[in-house]
Order: sequence, then structure tokens, then C-alpha cells
Amino acid sequence: MPIYEYSCSACDHAFEYLARTFSDRPEKCPACGAKKLNKRLSTFAPAVAAPKQCGGCANAPVCPSARTGGCGCGCTAS
Ligand SMILES: [Zn+2]
Repeated sequence: MPIYEYSCSACDHAFEYLARTFSDRPEKCPACGAKKLNKRLSTFAPAVAAPKQCGGCANAPVCPSARTGGCGCGCTAS
């Protein structure tokens, strides 16, 4: 049985899912319950995770809140 990796579109929670059948897939995110999940290609997972991007402010690449995970945006950079 293959184990697939999924990530949640809503909270970015990543988890593994053991598929019992070929079309079996997780119903929802185990962390927040959202049903929008992205299948991840685990074999191509980068050794170093790319820093989280802040999509909500002009300081995207340097947003301190993006680096600590999640952006509200509580960015304090000017
Ligand atoms: Zn989630």
C-alpha cells in the first residue's frame, strides 16, 4: 500500500496518508478539517524547505512573520 504525502491548502499542515485503494485519499485535513488538500511528490521534496512566502504584504521575501510560519499579515518590517 502506497503512502502519499498531502499538504493542506488552508493551514499548510503536511501529513502522510496510507492509501488502502488506488483512489483512496484523505477526506480532510487532520489539523484543521479543511477539504482542500494538495498531493505532494515526496520523492522530490527538497532537502532544505523553502522559506515561507508572505503573500499578504509588500515585504514578502523578508516578512518576519512569514519566516515563523504563517502570515496574518503581522509583518513589522518597513
Ligand atoms: Zn489544514
